[in-house]
Amino acid sequence: MKSSSILGLYQRYSLPIERGEGCYLYLKDGSHVLDFMSGIAANSLGHCHPALVEALNRQSKLLWHTSNLLEIPGMADYANLLTSHSFADKVFFCNSGTEAVEASLKIMRRYQQAVGKPKRTRVISFTNAFHGRTFVAASAGGLAKCWDNLGSPIDMFDRVEWGNSTAVEQAITQETAGILLEPIQGDGGIVLPPEGFLTDLRKIADRYGLILLFDEVQTGMGRTGKLFAHEHWGITPDIMASAKGLGGGFAIGACLVTERVAQTITPGMHGSTYGGNPLAMAVGKTVLEHIIANGFLEHVNQMSRLFLEGLEVLQYQHPHIIREVRGKGLLIGLQLAGDSNAFFRHLAKHGLLSAPAANHVLRFLPPLIIEEDHVKKAIAILDNACAGYIPSSKQKDSNDAVLRKRALARWENEGGSTASERGISPSKHSPAFATKKAIAC
Ligand code: PLP
Repeated sequence: MKSSSILGLYQRYSLPIERGEGCYLYLKDGSHVLDFMSGIAANSLGHCHPALVEALNRQSKLLWHTSNLLEIPGMADYANLLTSHSFADKVFFCNSGTEAVEASLKIMRRYQQAVGKPKRTRVISFTNAFHGRTFVAASAGGLAKCWDNLGSPIDMFDRVEWGNSTAVEQAITQETAGILLEPIQGDGGIVLPPEGFLTDLRKIADRYGLILLFDEVQTGMGRTGKLFAHEHWGITPDIMASAKGLGGGFAIGACLVTERVAQTITPGMHGSTYGGNPLAMAVGKTVLEHIIANGFLEHVNQMSRLFLEGLEVLQYQHPHIIREVRGKGLLIGLQLAGDSNAFFRHLAKHGLLSAPAANHVLRFLPPLIIEEDHVKKAIAILDNACAGYIPSSKQKDSNDAVLRKRALARWENEGGSTASERGISPSKHSPAFATKKAIAC
């Protein structure tokens, strides 16, 4: 038999998927799995949302592609909707997160040139960051996977310890053009910024005339319970890269900028053949209309609270597997005791899809449309999957009793009420969630 013709860039988990609908992927054998991976935070409205199918079908009969040399139907309306719900005044559309980061970095440099600072070409980026896979985006990243076996990165980034604003200020030179960061690090393992960090960066950028560039490819479009994650901290960037959830599963990227930055842009300095094509515009606008609709983000936050609470109980019950639960909205990470790839596969066998991240973290990135039932089902599957699971021995701490005590102490120290105080004693809570029949995936 001929071996696969697909280049071996991924260690794929074998799942015979036939179709997707809502929060589920349906397999060829008639079974289904609960999809809390969502195409790695892309399928914001779940699979084949009827409104997105309708928008795509309608547009597919009218026009697929022309060129950015012509006015593209739907682009201005969609861009207006995006700017009227964000800090931005102008938008450039492309096809992916990496492209959005790339465009943002070019625009950052262009801005500094235009304001008479041509030597400002370097960018401060952070340890543990992920910004995509082109040479430049990968060079900006702080995860080993970006540079394994590729030689040295492109020398235009000064990498600073995540969360350390003093180190950021110390790293600024005459050549610094701006600061690039994810407001919450995603691939690095759902790492929230320390208190005051983003506000400090905004102040530093203003003090030194730098561009603050947020990569909201993973955190944006409602994922954290706000339309864009930076809104949690009451600050705005000068430039923002967006993608993933922006297209709800359709390939769209965007670079959003303020008027001050936009004024320095000249035709020809950047572009894209397919960026902003009519199909993407039709789908993207429909996704955005849903996310900004009344009550949508409140629902995301409600589901987030329910899910986090259930996960905290599981952490208490399975401390030898789950060390910590963290996240915002429906961007949630479990700090595991063992390897996250192994646990991702184990969980997938039990019927729940997640997404491994760096540093032994497993991400849950469910569709933003999940309901209480989906959350309960996910918790039940996790509970089941944890029972009897032994994390890879290297990281496993065998003293479960100590771990359980530690988890409980941490929970209480952080102001969390105990499970019993909240009326969800683990013994009562677990079977309540474990509607075992419902797990027949
Ligand atoms: N930036 C961040 C924060 C991401 O999480 C990703 C993808 O995971 C990217 C950029 C790259 O996006 P894409 O894979 O669409 O090129």
